[in-house]
Amino acid sequence: MQKIDFLDLAVMRGASGTVHLPGSKSISNRVLLLAGLSSGTTVIHDLLASDDTAVMLDALRALGCGIQADGKLVRVTGLAGQLHTKQADLFLGNAGTAMRPLTAALALLAATQQGNFSLRGVPRMHERPIADLVDALRGLGCQIDYLGEPGFPPLQLRASPQPLNTAAPLRVRGDVSSQFLTALLLALPLVSEPADVVIDVQGELISKPYVDITLNLLARFGIQVQCEGWQRFVIPRGSHYQSPGDVHVEGDASSASYFIALGAIAANDKPVRIEGVGAASIQGDIQFVAAARAMGANVVEGPNWLEVKRGRWPLTAITLNCNHIPDAAMTLAVMALYAERTTTLTDIASWRVKETDRIAAMAAELRKLGATVVEGPDFISVTPPSPTAWKAAAIQTYDDHRVAMCFSLAAFNALAGATPPVPVRILDPQCVTKTFPDYFAALFSVAKTDAADIPVLTVDGPSASGKGTLASQIAQKLGWHFLDSGAVYRATAWMAMQAKVDAADELGLAQLASGLPLTFANGGIQLDGTEVREQLRREDVGALASKISALGLVRSALLELQLSFRRAPGLVADGRDMGTVIFPDAKLKIFLTASAATRARRRHKQLIDNGFSANIDRLCADLEARDARDQNRSVAPLKPAQDAVLLDNSALSVEASMDVVLKLWADRF
Ligand code: C5P
Repeated sequence: MQKIDFLDLAVMRGASGTVHLPGSKSISNRVLLLAGLSSGTTVIHDLLASDDTAVMLDALRALGCGIQADGKLVRVTGLAGQLHTKQADLFLGNAGTAMRPLTAALALLAATQQGNFSLRGVPRMHERPIADLVDALRGLGCQIDYLGEPGFPPLQLRASPQPLNTAAPLRVRGDVSSQFLTALLLALPLVSEPADVVIDVQGELISKPYVDITLNLLARFGIQVQCEGWQRFVIPRGSHYQSPGDVHVEGDASSASYFIALGAIAANDKPVRIEGVGAASIQGDIQFVAAARAMGANVVEGPNWLEVKRGRWPLTAITLNCNHIPDAAMTLAVMALYAERTTTLTDIASWRVKETDRIAAMAAELRKLGATVVEGPDFISVTPPSPTAWKAAAIQTYDDHRVAMCFSLAAFNALAGATPPVPVRILDPQCVTKTFPDYFAALFSVAKTDAADIPVLTVDGPSASGKGTLASQIAQKLGWHFLDSGAVYRATAWMAMQAKVDAADELGLAQLASGLPLTFANGGIQLDGTEVREQLRREDVGALASKISALGLVRSALLELQLSFRRAPGLVADGRDMGTVIFPDAKLKIFLTASAATRARRRHKQLIDNGFSANIDRLCADLEARDARDQNRSVAPLKPAQDAVLLDNSALSVEASMDVVLKLWADRF
């Protein structure tokens, strides 16, 4: 996958339509671990496909679990509590939901079954505290070494010389991260054979709803934990994990928060419908609905769907203790940009030890947009900018998927009256793959953008100037759509050849062109669903395209089709008249040039590489003739737009040309 450095979000003005949520991260990784420890095979439906679940699946595979992925189903055959592999080095990325429970489970298995495991992650994972969990496990007699900084991963888990001491209650802190308690709850049934295992929580337990998910899923796998006032948890003697057969993973309620907020901000008329999670959810973040309602959202709930529209507008500022919805609460901090006065979120100290220091990150990025922010050790207060104080901002995302997702909502600033409305740039947008790989596609599918607001970058130039390659690579790099307008003319020529329409029959050709059933999908070009990329590259097709493209009726018949490619987040279009006729308002226009001799050499190489015979002198003469035809025709002649940047790439590689264009674009933000 091409790395995208930044994604520019054009000004967005409304939203409606349906999104399907990916599976819940919290449920997915818990179910995977439980299935991996169980007797029997678990068939998991709608498992989240993301970085965090990928590292868990890799770990289970390395430990000897049977894993079969089959479309939307994943089958996991568990270890039935017995180690198959006694030694492994596991890399767990930045997935807290993998690191903590695997630490607990493997520490117990290593201790009791002579195992030896190392667990490591990305550098940020090595800054996320784990001492409270390690201390609790050491209290039982587990052998755990810190391989780096004491108190943090990486860890080594070893065999224990003595039996574990499970008779006394285990103590674990509950006020830093509930993931430590969850890790213990998931793992301790492994050693519950001789007697009940008791866990005492020290300090006030935070994020209780996540512990609730854990208890709920343990019950699905045959383990009934007794919970006494969120202070004491008892795992009954003789508990063992039994696969329930099929498990359906709910949509991710934290991911739902972005679309709930979107509905509250931008669904003025028809709602945003969210499928995959609803009133019957076992996830604590579903309580975000109540917080969004308090700010003004109009939410209708079904068992596994939500429909959200604007209620009060502007939104109402709130002061809310967010202990129960730590992840989704970040979305409230961005909704605060659309509220009257100041919104304060309290009891969010856990934000400081997540993927990044989220309080600092949210404060810094909200300020970039013009908001006034006060932050403390465990709270954040956000006052929105006045309409004239909004600033275009490049939002840093700190390798934190939630920062990237919640700040995309700032692109609706026109609705807050921002004057002028400002674009929002999301840096490193692919960090959303942690939990929601298709997040931006889902957002664009429901967000309404005026065509005029969608940025277009045009690359025009003569035949074989390399504009197609350059333009398509820039489109990939920016995460934008791509229009190869030459293919539009070639496809018309190909259709004419098939239908035996004469090259001089302007009306007949225009009729063919006006309903051209052309699609670009999976890197190919299809006409009426049939792949034609190869046919369109033929020289005779190119020659006919060049002729018929001089016909005014053909050109106007193809106008609408070309304009329809202007979709969020942006379009890179290459051709002859992209910057002059089709997209005269393009934000950046490049006119590529290279001498006819250079272009003939390139085309010659391309043809030979593809197994065609070619004569370089004839190619050069042919290119010169085509240039002349393109330049001298009366409609849309080939010429640089007045505001185009001329780029002679005779001596430049594609990469060097890309760097020039991307720099020009980055500087225009
Ligand atoms: O760029 P390509 O060689 O694929 O284009 C095929 C033909 O279509 C060109 O020879 C050119 O005459 C015509 N064309 C055009 N306007 C465009 C793109 C291509 O006239 N925007």
